[in-house]
Amino acid sequence: GDVLKKRKIAVLGSRSVGKSSLVVQFIENHFVESYYPTIESTFTKSINYKGVEYDCDIIDTAGQVKRLFTVTLSRNLVCFFQDEYTILNSKHAIGIHGYILVYSVTSRKSFDMVQVVYDKIVNFCGLNSIPCVIVGSKTDLQQSTSRQVPANEGQELANNMHAAWVETSAKTNCNVECSAHDPGALAITSIAKVFEL
Ligand code: GDP
Repeated sequence: GDVLKKRKIAVLGSRSVGKSSLVVQFIENHFVESYYPTIESTFTKSINYKGVEYDCDIIDTAGQVKRLFTVTLSRNLVCFFQDEYTILNSKHAIGIHGYILVYSVTSRKSFDMVQVVYDKIVNFCGLNSIPCVIVGSKTDLQQSTSRQVPANEGQELANNMHAAWVETSAKTNCNVECSAHDPGALAITSIAKVFEL
């Protein structure tokens, strides 16, 4: 029988912080400079978590203003990727167990939005805190574009939320996936944290 428990994880954040790019990098191991989903496509990847192999489908639905990605890990684990505006209206929001909240280190505005989204979710759920991972994206841009969010602020925000925190670059494939050499690196694979709920 199927004894695995069901898990749903949402990846949220302001537009253009790089949510899709993180997912595409994680699933397909490449970076697309301009990613305009125009046709519906499904990506697949096998994810090994603690010795268990999960088949992962990621579906990029076409023809919608707000993109919705659905990741199904086996039959039991579903992840959603959306813009912050739709999440709590969506029927898909029901039963989400964990959240990955993404901001860009080059956008103070997107960083501020993390707190806004977090508060919305907490209020919506009627909980004191929620399982989540805070991801500061686009670290490769900190040379050319000025960094607007220092690392310590990201860390502090995450501490306040009792969340994990990591900085990533989908472009250079930095911290997008846990490496065996650096189990501290979290990013998208921090979804794993929610597996353990
Ligand atoms: P979303 O709206 O949050 O899903 O953001 P996208 O994944 O569509 O990315 C928005 C833009 O930022 C695109 O032009 C991406 O190519 C770019 N982008 C995403 N991640 C990175 C990154 O790590 N580094 C750089 N330099 N650009 C990125």
